[in-house]
Amino acid sequence: MIRTILTLCVLALTSPALAAPLTPAQVFARQTTAVAPHIWLIAKPAVTDPPFEGNVVVIEQAKGLVVVDAGGAPVSGQAVVAEIRKLSKKPVTWLVYTHYHGDHNLGAGAIRAVWPGVQIVSSTRTWENMTGLPMAYVASYAKSYGDLAAFAAAQAKDVKLPDPLREGWRRTAEAGPAMVEAYSGLEPYPADLTFESRITLPDETAPVEIAYLGRANTDGDVVAWAPKQRVLATGDIVVAPIPYAAHTFPGDWVEVLRKLKAYDFRVLIPGHGPPQTDRAYLDRLIAALESVRAQVAPLARADLPLEEVRKRVDLEPIRKQFAGDDPWLRYVLAVVFTGDLISNAYKEARGETVVQGKG
Ligand SMILES: [Zn+2]
Repeated sequence: MIRTILTLCVLALTSPALAAPLTPAQVFARQTTAVAPHIWLIAKPAVTDPPFEGNVVVIEQAKGLVVVDAGGAPVSGQAVVAEIRKLSKKPVTWLVYTHYHGDHNLGAGAIRAVWPGVQIVSSTRTWENMTGLPMAYVASYAKSYGDLAAFAAAQAKDVKLPDPLREGWRRTAEAGPAMVEAYSGLEPYPADLTFESRITLPDETAPVEIAYLGRANTDGDVVAWAPKQRVLATGDIVVAPIPYAAHTFPGDWVEVLRKLKAYDFRVLIPGHGPPQTDRAYLDRLIAALESVRAQVAPLARADLPLEEVRKRVDLEPIRKQFAGDDPWLRYVLAVVFTGDLISNAYKEARGETVVQGKG
């Protein structure tokens, strides 16, 4: 008994204190930055902590606003609406989805509630994903976040973990109840208008060209290009500082990244994370994808089991480049990027299909 109490005292002294849980409004709060004349980025500030909420881009046209992505929950959409109202009195006329992942579109109801005339537009493939099995995960989304929050609370108390890792878990645990609440009872809003390859939203000062460039982060990603301002919003084809690779198509993804490099952009706005003003991050991402593909392909074709392939791939240069020595960023990188990238490159090398939302 005394030993237990002593252990608890040691834990209490060495564990970071778990503060009171944050509210959904705090966790899903957004900040707006001006990117170019008539264009703003509305982002969740802490990009490498859950919830991983997609960037929202607002482009002001003469008759209304074009909004690219909508936030990932009703409360997130409400935060986006509040920021939009500070920018302009014009209505949102177009809402463009970059892809089907819920962190970019489950806030759409809040936008539609305020501007019922909004037309939602996506690629045909994204519409199919949002009305089919790939989107089914939203039914268990709140439960997954409940499990994550419980795991995070336990990890935050684990004194064997390095401090920055425990700090990351502590922040995740603090946001846990808010994430569960925000991700409960979600309703997807599939697009009203779909297109196969390209659509233009004309305007004198801020026309927007939306284009499907091939499979990349999903099988239906589109980018939004404002040619007069030379601003390119990429969705999760580019995510910084830690890329995502859930159900990606590594070879096609590289080709799409090369197409992004060919845009004469002044600012590239990723799906999550800070705007980029040069091509350095695109090059880093292409190099990481090429490195993993080159390492995985011969092993996969030699019929080594996936788990064996994982052990043999040297990820250290990629870890250094994207996460430095930060244990939390290294953990996030493994969970959202390298683990999935290896399995997707493995499937690609073996001619197997990467199924959206599965495996
Ligand atoms: Zn995303």
